[in-house]
Amino acid sequence: GGQGSVALIVGVTGIVGNSLAEILPRSDTPGGPWKVYGVARRPRPNWHENCPVEYIQCDISDSALAKSKLSHLTDVTHIFYVTWASRSNEAENCKINGLMFRNLLQAVVPIATNLRHVCLQTGTKNYIGPFESFYNFESHDPPYSEDLPRLKVDNFYYTLEDVMFEEVAKKEGVTWSVHRPDIIFGFSPYSLMNIIVTLSVYAAICKHEGAPLMFPGTKEAWNCYAIASDADLVAEQEIWACVEPNAQNQAFNIHNADYFKWKHLWKVLAEQFGIEKYGFEEREKRATLAERMKDKGPVWEEIVKKNQLSPTKLEEVGGWWFVDTMLSGDAFISCMNKSKEHGFLGFRNSTKSFVHWIGKMKSQKIIPN
Ligand code: NAD
Repeated sequence: GGQGSVALIVGVTGIVGNSLAEILPRSDTPGGPWKVYGVARRPRPNWHENCPVEYIQCDISDSALAKSKLSHLTDVTHIFYVTWASRSNEAENCKINGLMFRNLLQAVVPIATNLRHVCLQTGTKNYIGPFESFYNFESHDPPYSEDLPRLKVDNFYYTLEDVMFEEVAKKEGVTWSVHRPDIIFGFSPYSLMNIIVTLSVYAAICKHEGAPLMFPGTKEAWNCYAIASDADLVAEQEIWACVEPNAQNQAFNIHNADYFKWKHLWKVLAEQFGIEKYGFEEREKRATLAERMKDKGPVWEEIVKKNQLSPTKLEEVGGWWFVDTMLSGDAFISCMNKSKEHGFLGFRNSTKSFVHWIGKMKSQKIIPN
């Protein structure tokens, strides 16, 4: 029974944190009724105000601050860890992300007397290595299954798992689960990696300038079969793992369980922004989004003003490095069999998911309508 479930979402304004914050408080959510706390680094943004969540602004990289700001969370039963910090190399990523997670667990685990479960979100990079070694490191052969051994390379996902195993073992009866999404389609202008908002901002700038919407990725990325993970679906699997006995102390891949091609979604993107000329053009040297968009700060400012959008800076909403990396070669395909075999049968239509999240970005006035 879910009587007295109390969630702590760490990273509540992020791409999956936002979905968890919307889904958990609903009356029909498994394990409910849920009381929900949410932690994020910045003050609560206006687009987050309607979620019935107790918002706590706290930078968890500061251990003393985490201990003091979270000291009242004695009733937490489930922790959803959906955050990360980005540094210039993977050794640094391991350090900062390990520190943040340890601070959070050491602040909450000892005081939360009824703690039952910790959900940790990592991702497909578990099988292919960190961004810095993409495409130049011999990784596993896809489709990736959860039981593949760790790669012999630094990876902050491994650090996070090890921190969790150590800290959870300090309290009897606490279970865990690890969730490994692929590229996430979701809502959040505060995310370090949001392909929906990044592509939408690019498209809005093309529309504004009357330029064609050209695909910034490689030919391989344009043509290959690709997968994505709807943020609501990731949240649903995480919540499922909290209440399903069969899912305890396990890692699960999570994606929409369908395939798409970027060349097909690109047409959809163009339609969403009323752009008639779009496509892929083979060039000797690829023009990345980082190059195409490097001087567009003032143009974005103009678009925000003209459309009375929620104020954002181009460098906050344009995750060029991320999309450039993701669209630089064949997609990495993970396998959904284990999740299904354990009883999670959720799925999404990726094209509909793509359109849905663009619509939400528009209705929340992050991008022009
Ligand atoms: P995100 O970047 O969307 O959100 C991060 C959240 O954490 C925000 O609410 C932010 O305010 C908060 N935060 C950041 N630093 C903090 C700090 N020091 N103290 C307190 N709060 C802080 O997060 P995400 O993309 O959901 O990432 C979670 C995990 O999912 C990461 O391991 C990431 O690699 C993985 N992942 C993400 C994607 C994607 O497309 N975004 C895809 C696959 C895997």
